Amino acid sequence: MSLVKYAAKRNFKVTPEPTAVLKKDSAKLSFVVQRHKASHLHYDFRLEMDGVLKSWAVPKGPSMNPGDKRLAMMVEDHPYSYKDFNGVIPAGYGAGIVEIWDDGKYTDINSSGKDAEKKLKAGLKSGSLKFILYGKKLKGEFALVKLKGKQENAWLLIKHKDEYAVSKAYDSEKETAKTSPINKWLAANKQPEKKNSTRQVKSAGKN
Ligand code: MN
Repeated sequence: MSLVKYAAKRNFKVTPEPTAVLKKDSAKLSFVVQRHKASHLHYDFRLEMDGVLKSWAVPKGPSMNPGDKRLAMMVEDHPYSYKDFNGVIPAGYGAGIVEIWDDGKYTDINSSGKDAEKKLKAGLKSGSLKFILYGKKLKGEFALVKLKGKQENAWLLIKHKDEYAVSKAYDSEKETAKTSPINKWLAANKQPEKKNSTRQVKSAGKN
């Protein structure tokens, strides 16, 4: 596995995305959620494991409400340094713009350090990952559960009930600053947004 698929999909002479390099030390594990406006606006949820970022595309974005089960399609591993990537991806694979929506450290739900990575890898294999996120937006316990008998790469991202969980409706778009790089870029490029948003685009009356 590793980063073969990642490298095969991209032309590093053209894209500013990181090249396919493995990370060595894993004393503390990182996670990142990137908001990505490609052909569709979606969120990419990535967990460090084995020197790479295990990655899921989450169309609706994560939720802090345990009542939500957010579809998460597993995609190719990304290099560890991708956690810092944001910017414009030129024409080609994933063309559009990426911004970092949330990031921080994470660990297994029951263990830390090297034990944690072992447990997480086992969970990935068995189709049930339970972990704690220490993000700015995403905090506390979460689970990623693989759907059985469905599309091969379909998982559900679910918030566990804990002190960080919310009971009201959670919309990741509403948790995004109106002045975020993507929202500014969308305004500048005058592309209609598919997701509902309260953002207002000032225009000179031309369409
Ligand atoms: Mn993406």
